Amino acid sequence: MDRDKILLTPGPLTTTLRTKLAMLKDWGSWDADFNAVTASVRASLLSIIHGHDSHVVVPLQGSGTFSVEAAVATLVPRDGHVLVLDNGAYCKRAARLTQLMGRRVTVLDFDEAQPVSATVLDAHLTTDASITHVVLIHCETGAGVLNPLQAVADVCTAHGKGLIVDAMSSFGALEIDARSTRFDALIAASGKCLEGVPGMGFVFIRKAVLDHCAGQSQSLAMDLHDQYMYMEKTGQWRFTPPTHVVVALHEAIAQFEAEGGQPARLARYTHNFETLMVGMARLGFKPFLDPAIQSPIIVTFHAPAHPKYEFKSFYAAVRAHGFLLYPGKLTQIETFRVGCIGAIGPHDMEQAVHAVALALQDLGLAA
Ligand SMILES: *Cc1c(COP(=O)(O)O)cnc(C)c1O
Repeated sequence: MDRDKILLTPGPLTTTLRTKLAMLKDWGSWDADFNAVTASVRASLLSIIHGHDSHVVVPLQGSGTFSVEAAVATLVPRDGHVLVLDNGAYCKRAARLTQLMGRRVTVLDFDEAQPVSATVLDAHLTTDASITHVVLIHCETGAGVLNPLQAVADVCTAHGKGLIVDAMSSFGALEIDARSTRFDALIAASGKCLEGVPGMGFVFIRKAVLDHCAGQSQSLAMDLHDQYMYMEKTGQWRFTPPTHVVVALHEAIAQFEAEGGQPARLARYTHNFETLMVGMARLGFKPFLDPAIQSPIIVTFHAPAHPKYEFKSFYAAVRAHGFLLYPGKLTQIETFRVGCIGAIGPHDMEQAVHAVALALQDLGLAA
């Protein structure tokens, strides 16, 4: 069947036909028409967080991780000390890239089935005055835990520490308001909840810290301050822009706004999530997380206890019915993940559950 499979993953995601069609054109990077698209995307992104007064936004070529790495390299002085709040795989990635950027890093460990604790952070900052920046993953896509952004931001403000937020899998779906939540940098990307295609990230940087960022990055390509200055001066990207990705994001943002912005997107994803949970429970699947801390972005399920189960054949069987699942990212137990995000609705989720039921039958795993 010559039809795209539906992606139940944390990115790339299923996109609309309109978004895909926006890529059928070539753009010159020096051209005023393309610069206008970039400017429009940047203005829209700032509006999503109500950040026009407090922040600038700097787009960067590459996948989301490139922008996290760039944010650390640009924001943190070379003699800075970063505290990473760690409750999963993406936190560990942030800690590793911080270390590779040559910054001193301390990891504060939390259970991967629990949110990180602002109280524990508060105590840690009280005992260690050398910390300059805190890194928080808003939605830990590894297990799907939603971390307490507001409480962590308040503690960082009280201690006068910089906060760098990886909001990759939450931006656009969960509310983030720069007027009430203080952060020095917040990072997201084109191919997640805005439902663009992958290929660029963007970093919101607080205007008050922007000047201090000059010359801090040890990398040319990852220097967000340099990228910002060049873009302000010329309206252009410093190096070859991902033109098709930018125009697709522009088109995706137009649809995001037409749908009703962040609240509408959250409502649709929540509907997807609830449909998935009900359907999977009917098939006997148990979620890994306590529902109270579960984000409506991605769900980790325990694998079937059947001795014949293995993810690869389960994945292939569900794929044959038109849906792509995602492997689990937990170290200790056998799980798999199902994303609730992308240009899909509750009917797609019902069909996804049906595909899982058929796959269990195909594999002789059905109860
Ligand atoms: C998707 C994601 C990233 C970026 O991953 P890439 O593979 O580089 O796009 C970073 N952090 C979180 C929490 C994510 O969900």
